[in-house]
Amino acid sequence: MTGYNARVELEPTGLDADLNEIEQAMQLGARRFASKVLRPIGQQLDQMQPSEVIAADSPLWQVFSEFGQLGITLDDLMELPAADRARLKCVIFEELGYGDGGLAVLLGASMVPSIVLHSMGRTDLLQRYADKPIGCWGITEPDHGSDMLDSSGHARHPGAAHGRLNCHARLQGDRIVINGQKSAWVSNGPIAQVCILFCGFDDGSGEDKRCVVLVPLDLPGVSRGAPLDKMGQRALPQGELFFDNVSLPLDHLVAGPEDYVRAEQGVLTEANALMGVMWTGAARAAYEHAYEYAHQRKQGGVPIIQHQNVRHRLFHMFARVEAARALARRAMLFNEVAPQPALQGSIASKITATQTSFDVASQAVQMFGGNGVTREYPVEKLLRDARSSMIEDGCNEMLAIKGGTLISRI
Ligand SMILES: Cc1cc2nc3c(=O)[nH]c(=O)nc-3n(C[C@H](O)[C@H](O)[C@H](O)COP(=O)(O)OP(=O)(O)OC[C@H]3O[C@@H](n4cnc5c(N)ncnc54)[C@H](O)[C@@H]3O)c2cc1C
Repeated sequence: MTGYNARVELEPTGLDADLNEIEQAMQLGARRFASKVLRPIGQQLDQMQPSEVIAADSPLWQVFSEFGQLGITLDDLMELPAADRARLKCVIFEELGYGDGGLAVLLGASMVPSIVLHSMGRTDLLQRYADKPIGCWGITEPDHGSDMLDSSGHARHPGAAHGRLNCHARLQGDRIVINGQKSAWVSNGPIAQVCILFCGFDDGSGEDKRCVVLVPLDLPGVSRGAPLDKMGQRALPQGELFFDNVSLPLDHLVAGPEDYVRAEQGVLTEANALMGVMWTGAARAAYEHAYEYAHQRKQGGVPIIQHQNVRHRLFHMFARVEAARALARRAMLFNEVAPQPALQGSIASKITATQTSFDVASQAVQMFGGNGVTREYPVEKLLRDARSSMIEDGCNEMLAIKGGTLISRI
């Protein structure tokens, strides 16, 4: 056993002691992809206009093609025993977030239709649309953001009603017909081939009912807004989806009103757990930049790492990343192996990792001094990217109220 006084050199993912050979190989493959493809392309896209990001000659498309070559598919992951699947998801998605937070979300959002179809047992639709791999999750509406992630009312003000939704499906004979719109926040909205649409269910009763429909986005009546210009995660294209009498066979109804809460809770549980893993990776990237810079930058004739306070600050960044990772892995494992996944665990993981990535990125900017706020160095982008993560997949405050309700006996 190594003596306690020895300095232990840790791997990039810190206190990982028990990864098996397959997990190590997947981690290395994903890290190579993250460093050689996601990171440089993410930095390039960050400087481009939203319309250029989705243009035919954009480097964005290389992300999809090279990710495809990595051979990581949801179908393969679903074949694994639950605990192995949880561990691999954590290992791989942390590396994606480490490469580029916005592009990790792009790849995650692409899988959301398949994740929902798997969880609702709709292998028929999975097979039918296997040739349309770029997916999106359409839930947020212009007038309903937080409301849409809380149909069970965990965070709703007592006695309040949120009003009519902006997008509805209704049955017409053996068809389902969709009208309305989703907000500009739909990740992959401008480029997706299919949308898993969470919308109102209009049966003429006037009651607030909701449903989930799989919508191929090349159907007549579907149109898209201009890609959104925003502060962070600029590599991730986002934009509105409009539906004008979009008609589909009834079998595209994935969840009716009776199954809606199960579908909503299921997708939020999965998405928040993945966010916990990905934004741990983004926090790690910020820590790593600060660590390297502290060894290079000299002040007072010595590298700044020689100043005790710099080591103190770096250590807290290290500890925050480790803590976020530990919770992210624990929540993911629980969801995969327990008889029923726990949304409150996923929420705890998402809130912790996104806040950590923001705080650690802010500390990294401080470590770089004036260089930290210039676009010539990578850390200001990490701060902008992390800021959005505290809103996407649910504002952290609303999620915390929801989590608080879920852990209460009220
Ligand atoms: C980068 C990014 C990616 C996204 N990706 C997608 C996507 O793929 N698909 C999609 O459909 N949407 C997506 N969204 C939208 C996201 O889910 C919403 O922005 C989020 O749910 C908040 O909704 P809102 O923006 O309308 O804010 P609002 O709901 O209007 O919230 C405004 C403020 O009010 C607070 N608030 C609201 N309700 C409550 C409450 N009940 N209790 C306490 N406080 C409350 C919030 O915390 C917030 O501070 C994305 C957003 C971002 C930023």
